[in-house]
Amino acid sequence: MKKYKVIIIGSDFGGQCAAINLFKQGISDFIILERRDFVGGTCCQNSYPGAAVDVQSPLYSFSFKPYLWSQMYAEQSELEHYTRLIIDKYKLGEGYRKNKGPFP
Ligand SMILES: Cc1cc2nc3c(=O)[nH]c(=O)nc-3n(C[C@H](O)[C@H](O)[C@H](O)COP(=O)(O)OP(=O)(O)OC[C@H]3O[C@@H](n4cnc5c(N)ncnc54)[C@H](O)[C@@H]3O)c2cc1C
Repeated sequence: MKKYKVIIIGSDFGGQCAAINLFKQGISDFIILERRDFVGGTCCQNSYPGAAVDVQSPLYSFSFKPYLWSQMYAEQSELEHYTRLIIDKYKLGEGYRKNKGPFP
């Protein structure tokens, strides 16, 4: 079994930010474990009608990747779009592995 220097649990903003900061420190020997079938976390999972943020959209942007939001309180689809931009830009999908156990 391959060993990693760092294991990140979850691929939402917290996991993405951790991964990007590891890259910035020259650490690429890590893996992101995600229990869902896709990378992106809660903001990609919840697409129910009317889903939108309730804090101002710019607060959802990473400081290193500003984004011109279409409205002050973005709908879920735009939040997911931004998340995909981050995942693609930093190639986070390549360091991801679906994981169902032993975690709940
Ligand atoms: C439409 C929408 C609007 C929102 N608006 C706001 C808002 O305005 N303000 C606000 O503060 N928050 C809002 N949220 C909540 C927002 O989702 C969170 O701020 C954000 O998701 C937090 O990200 P996170 O990385 O901390 O954790 P999470 O989103 O909780 O992601 C955790 C990830 O880890 C994975 N995971 C968990 N446990 C395991 C395990 N044991 N093994 C493997 N993988 C695991 C999960 O599948 C998930 O992908 C909103 C959410 C949605 C869907």
